[in-house]
Amino acid sequence: MGKIILTGDRPTGRLHVGHYVGSLKRRVELQNSGEFEKIYIMIADAQALTDNADHPEKVRQNIMQVALDYLAAGLDPEKVNIFIQSQVPELTELSFYYMNLVTVSRLQRNPTVKNEIIMRNFETSIPVGFFTYPISQASDITAFKATTVPVGEDQLPMIEQAREIVRKFNQTYGEVLVEPEAVIPENEICKRLPGTDGTAKMSKSLGNCIYLSDTEEELRTKVMSMYTDPNHIKVTDPGSLEGNAVFTYLDAFCRPEHFAKFLPEYESLDALKEHYTRGGLGDVKVKKFLFAVMNDELAPIRERRLAWEKRIPEIIEILKKGSAEAEKVAAQTLTEVKNAMKINYFEDEEWIREQLNAT
Ligand code: ATP
Ligand code: MG
Repeated sequence: MGKIILTGDRPTGRLHVGHYVGSLKRRVELQNSGEFEKIYIMIADAQALTDNADHPEKVRQNIMQVALDYLAAGLDPEKVNIFIQSQVPELTELSFYYMNLVTVSRLQRNPTVKNEIIMRNFETSIPVGFFTYPISQASDITAFKATTVPVGEDQLPMIEQAREIVRKFNQTYGEVLVEPEAVIPENEICKRLPGTDGTAKMSKSLGNCIYLSDTEEELRTKVMSMYTDPNHIKVTDPGSLEGNAVFTYLDAFCRPEHFAKFLPEYESLDALKEHYTRGGLGDVKVKKFLFAVMNDELAPIRERRLAWEKRIPEIIEILKKGSAEAEKVAAQTLTEVKNAMKINYFEDEEWIREQLNAT
């Protein structure tokens, strides 16, 4: 059987560079590798509603923004299927059956859910839908029999939980589902890119983002005001790389050729770091370099976005067609699931015969 990808994003805002280095860039590479039989990219609106029930308009507005970010980043609708989660109701039905295979305490132990509950100040008022979103994510993955899920590191506990559900289902009802594997970035920094404040993960919910759709000027302003080393006051002071967001971002975005292009007096990132820690290299110079490096990567994305913004009717068609195709596949898996669970009464001649004989 061929390899299949399922991955996606919550339409809670435009996509940022954390998404890009954590998952989106890899998706585009995988799309172009020709190694995959099918690639499904899901706009997870139903999941976004689990912690935005009071703000459906926020989710609704961001569907097109996320689709634009996908196309801008280089996802090709000829090669991947982009769809909207809520338009595939089979996913919800699968979740309802999977819920019986997971305990409350297992969900409570999920470290990502634990973290996100704290981050959102849910305390004792956790929406049930939010609490159970790892199960819904297992439905999304398994409905398409995905083998491969390219994600950032924060998603590893979700994939682990999905794998457990698959094993439990297959043991209990017979081999139907496929165990997925996560693909996370090799670059340590890209697994969980921090925000421009240098502390937590870059996240739409925290407002510490550089968006793929930011203009060149917005990018420049954000980079120039990024967090560095608070003790690096004079240029001659030795600087520290620890928690220094500018160097963290260079680790994520800088490639060797960027030096020849933008900062020829240094040979490599190591040489730049060495000078910074020794003293004598000012933050402004490093920030200007980082801006040039990031702009080099983001300018083509920005241009493609502007081009796609003029083709909205086509994007609506892409999403509509993608959702209809996704629904067909999910419906097939749901039928297999229900057959395995023996809850397909009207197609089950044995069940019908039993009823007839019992009377
Ligand atoms: P929200 O705050 O609404 O949860 P988010 O910014 O965390 O938004 P998601 O839609 O939850 O974004 O994540 C989509 C994908 O991007 C996931 O695979 C996730 O691991 C990855 N991702 C998100 N933020 C980062 C980051 N800072 N670094 C690396 N990968 C990330
Ligand atoms: Mg998230």
